Amino acid sequence: MRKFALAIHGGAGTILRSRMTAEKELSYKKALEDAITSGETILIKGGRSIDAVEAAIRSLEDNPLFNAGRGAVFTNEGKHEMDASLMNGKDLSAGAVAGVQNIKNPISLARGVMDRSEHVFMAGLGAQEFAKKINAEFMPDDYFFVQMRYDQLQQAKESDTMILDHTVDKARPDENPFGREKKFGTVGCVALDVHGNLAAGTSTGGMTNKKHGRVGDTPIIGAGTYANNKTCAVSCTGHGEFFIRSVVAYDISCLMEYKGLTLKKACDIVVMDKLVKIGGEGGLIALDAKGNIELPYNSEGMYRASKKEGEDLFIGIYKD
Ligand code: ASP
Repeated sequence: MRKFALAIHGGAGTILRSRMTAEKELSYKKALEDAITSGETILIKGGRSIDAVEAAIRSLEDNPLFNAGRGAVFTNEGKHEMDASLMNGKDLSAGAVAGVQNIKNPISLARGVMDRSEHVFMAGLGAQEFAKKINAEFMPDDYFFVQMRYDQLQQAKESDTMILDHTVDKARPDENPFGREKKFGTVGCVALDVHGNLAAGTSTGGMTNKKHGRVGDTPIIGAGTYANNKTCAVSCTGHGEFFIRSVVAYDISCLMEYKGLTLKKACDIVVMDKLVKIGGEGGLIALDAKGNIELPYNSEGMYRASKKEGEDLFIGIYKD
C-alpha cells in the first residue's frame, strides 16, 4: 500500500495580498479545504484516485468563487460555455467535454464520457444530448449568474479583450477589486491513491468575453490535463491558448518519461521557462507516482492546496 496524496488548484493570476480582504481570503481557504476534504475522504478509505479527483472538482464547481460550474465566467454573448476533462493514469482512459451549457458539474459529464461512451471528447450540442441521455444534472441560467462575473464581462466588452479570471490591474489599487481581475479561476485536482494509481482532472468556464465556440486547454488531454502512472498527474490553469501550444501537461510527463527528469525539474522547465518564453501566464499542480507534489506558477499567485497522508494540509494563495 502506498501513501495517498492529492493537490487542488482554484486558478492562477495576479492575486495580490494587498487586494484581498480578510473575509474574502477566508472564504477561499475554506473552499479549498472543503474540496481537499471531499477528495481525501475517498482516498482515506482506500478509494480510487479518479473518484477523489471528481469529488474534489465537484466541490469547487459548486462554489461561485471559482470559474467553473456555478461560477463560470460569461462568454461574449452573455452565456456560460464550460469545458472539463479527467484522466486515469492507470490505463490512460480519459473523458472530456467542451462548450457545454447549463450542466451543474461538467467534470461528472466528462466522467460520463469516459465511463459510459465509446468516446473520449464530446463537444457542444452532441455533448448536451449525451448529458440528457445519462441523466446529468442540468441547472437554469440563473444558477450560473454571479454579478461579479457579469461586471467583468461588461468591462471586457468595453476594452474588447478576452479577460482571464483572477488578475487585478496593479496600477489601479483604488478601483473595484474585481474590476480588472484577470484570473484563471479554473479548478483542478491531481491525486494518488493507496493502490499507486494517479489521476488528474480540470474544469473551467474559460475566459471572460471569449467568443462563442472558443475552447481552451482545460478539456484537451495533454494540454490542460494528463495522468500516467509511469510519470505524473497534471492539471493546468492559465491562458489556455499558450497552454495548448505548449502541450503543457503532456510535456511534463514526456520530460520525465523520455529524459528521466524529476517532477520538479520538468515543472520548472515547462512553467518557468518554456511558457514564459512565449508569454504564457499561469500555473499547474502536479503529482508523481512517488507522491511528490509540485505547485508551480509564473503569475503572481495561485489558489492551491495539497495534502499527503500523515502530513498537514497546505493552503497557499500568494507567492510569498
Ligand atoms: N485555462 C483556462 C482557459 O484558457 C482558463 C483558466 O485557467 O482560468 O480556458
